[in-house]
Amino acid sequence: MTLSAQAGHSLSFSSHCLKQAIPLMVKYKIPITPLNYALWYCYVSEKNHELSQELDTIINKYNTCSTEQANYLFNKYLSNDDMALFYQLSDGFSDVVGKVHHDISEALTYSAEFDSVLKECRDKLNEADISQESGFDEVLLCVERLSDKSATLQNRAQDFQNQLAHAYSEITELKQELIKSQSKAERDPLTGLFNRGKFDEDVVQFCQAPDISGVAVLVMVDIDHFKSFNDTFGHQKGDQTLRAVATKLLKHVSSVGQVYRYGGEEFCFTAHFATISDMTNFTQQLRQAITKLQIKDPKSETILRHVTASFGVAIKSKNSQPEQLIAIADRALYLAKEHGRNRVEIIEE
Ligand code: GH3
Ligand code: MG
Ligand code: MG
Repeated sequence: MTLSAQAGHSLSFSSHCLKQAIPLMVKYKIPITPLNYALWYCYVSEKNHELSQELDTIINKYNTCSTEQANYLFNKYLSNDDMALFYQLSDGFSDVVGKVHHDISEALTYSAEFDSVLKECRDKLNEADISQESGFDEVLLCVERLSDKSATLQNRAQDFQNQLAHAYSEITELKQELIKSQSKAERDPLTGLFNRGKFDEDVVQFCQAPDISGVAVLVMVDIDHFKSFNDTFGHQKGDQTLRAVATKLLKHVSSVGQVYRYGGEEFCFTAHFATISDMTNFTQQLRQAITKLQIKDPKSETILRHVTASFGVAIKSKNSQPEQLIAIADRALYLAKEHGRNRVEIIEE
């Protein structure tokens, strides 16, 4: 039973730490990455006093812990082995526990202890002289002993199974929690799109991705004169318009790339196209699709305003850096506004 005791302890300790770490990470807007998870797991498990102190200082000062600070702390206090914690507790963990659950019940059925009692009883039965009354007594004793032993073993196996089944459901629950908070940390609550934090992470990968044939772009989309929407129709109508634009963007962009709410009434997306003209056609069609969105008078159903947006396209080059690419898309967007809005402007790096 040592295995069960150990497994029970480490699983409940791990889930305890996981339950503490995740809300803290969400609170301080820490992306749930393996590295961050390993840091915060270590923090809540109070394994390393110096790490906890240094992380406390950073949180007190910045109310978050940036990627650079996290990298620094990880290199200083943790090793790559600690990353295993994250993997252990997320994807692979339920599989591991599930397998143990199955193996143990089998193992106990054929346990060595039961085997030895079985052997002992078999020998006794062979030796028993059933021509005598005492022989029958011996047979009965053996049967009783076997039956007792098998009941004990079954109870122990059942206990162990219950314990593992409990751990299994606990881990599954934790995994759901992890997935939920991870997705909460990546999504904008108003539109459901990926948020700025997710964009900041993804744009690095977008720039680092090896060049494939065709055109890769970062596009900034900004709703025109949106302030006057709020001023004229109220903040709720403004929110409704943001959601409608987000839905339109998602519908069009999801087949070619990834869309994000950049902030306020600004959205952005990254996408790949075979040719520049494919990209231009796509962006113009999207711009036109947005102009089909209308604000209507709820009573008379008359159209009060059409929604339009301006587009700034930055075409990615071989060595594009995220900040550069964003600045170029911003410049293109600025030009689209300057040139009258409801337009697409393109700048190649
Ligand atoms: P431009 O055509 O130059 O982009 O003009 P604009 O009015 O769209 O730009 P400006 O930056 O002056 O105003 C943006 C407005 O977007 C101001 C802010 O009240 C509104 N806004 C930002 N976030 C939200 C939101 O979540 N909901 C609502 N309803 N309005 C928002
Ligand atoms: Mg605007
Ligand atoms: Mg704006």
